[in-house]
Amino acid sequence: MRRFVITLMPLLWAVPAWAQQPTYPTRFSPAVAESPAVRDALTYVDQHFDAQVAEWIRITEMPAKSEHEERRAAYVKAQLEALGLPVTVDSIGNVSTRLRGTGGGPTLVFAAHLDTVHPMETDVTVTRRGDRLHAPGVFDNSASVANALQAVRALLASGVRPKGDVVFVWTVQEELGLRGMAYWLDHNPNVADMLVALDGGLGSVSYGALGIYWSRMVFTGEGAHTNNSRGRPHPARAAARCIQDIYQIPLPPPGAPVSAVYNVGMWRGGHVVNAIPQEISFTVDLRTVDPALLAQLDTAIVNTCRHAAEAEKVGFEREFIQKNEAGGRPEQLADRRAHPLVQTAVDVLRYLGVELPAGREASPSGSTDSNVGVVRGIPSISVGRSRGGDQHTLSEWADVPSANIGTKQIILLTATMAELEGRPTP
Ligand SMILES: [Zn+2]
Repeated sequence: MRRFVITLMPLLWAVPAWAQQPTYPTRFSPAVAESPAVRDALTYVDQHFDAQVAEWIRITEMPAKSEHEERRAAYVKAQLEALGLPVTVDSIGNVSTRLRGTGGGPTLVFAAHLDTVHPMETDVTVTRRGDRLHAPGVFDNSASVANALQAVRALLASGVRPKGDVVFVWTVQEELGLRGMAYWLDHNPNVADMLVALDGGLGSVSYGALGIYWSRMVFTGEGAHTNNSRGRPHPARAAARCIQDIYQIPLPPPGAPVSAVYNVGMWRGGHVVNAIPQEISFTVDLRTVDPALLAQLDTAIVNTCRHAAEAEKVGFEREFIQKNEAGGRPEQLADRRAHPLVQTAVDVLRYLGVELPAGREASPSGSTDSNVGVVRGIPSISVGRSRGGDQHTLSEWADVPSANIGTKQIILLTATMAELEGRPTP
């Protein structure tokens, strides 16, 4: 009897998903997708999909660790020039082109990062097993690099011409803290009315920005032989004390409107067994979407380390490894969810047959090039490229057919958000 009650309770309390769901503005309608030019563009993607996959493999096999994206950048530039498009390569290495609209519409910017996390000597040979490609970087983000190129070709070939301009940027140094995108936005102010980062698994729509601070906490001292070590300043003891104390810093309780997490992930230092090390360091990965909480926790962590260093009479310095700013408190995020870009992306995916869970179809988090737009107040989302997994590892893989949908998604976002006019009469 008791068991019966327990299993029944959630059913009694459950409210249908549709009843809880607020409705959000959208620009999508099937009529846009079925207009002749857009239909032609989607057909182009189907008819040239084998070539797209071959190009995707070619791009994946160009090593491109962050700050070494030149080969991929040169390839993308050459492909765009072959289409007769104007191409800009800025001084950090971002490649961009602009498809002119008929005028009077918003400028929509797509961004696909060229770089990977894999060292240049990594074997990036692609192997295909059935519907899957396997190689480091094949998923993150070579798929998007290829999808974006093919979307440009399809838009040109079919004559899809929205009112607004559409800018495509292939960015560098995304994996180093979104540096290429930040550089591009800073050097092209007031260009992007909306920003769409092409990154992540197919079906994801993120409109917020997860703040991520990666720090290295470095403790230094003079060192001493073990025989003379009693009572001497000790970087390892300071670091150990600091880690203990960091984990006493209170976090928002489970279920609070905004959460935060942090983690000490790496520890290193010392050269020999029989001496006090001259340097010990550890890393902290701190994450939350709330900018105020991010700053507050970061300060608390750094102060904790400083106190530990003072107590142990050693030097202390914090080095930033990566710094992605946070996108907003719950109120601000609700506002961003209400921008039509978000629901349009959701509706586009559903139109293309991607199932998205009701109530969780868009995420207020996200850690892609779109974060840079979010924190600058530009309506920004990130959407996926294909299905895949094990990114940032040697066993990374991607599903081939889903990249077809990832590419069509770019075309439908262009037609809807840059406000399609139709095909211009020749
Ligand atoms: Zn990525």
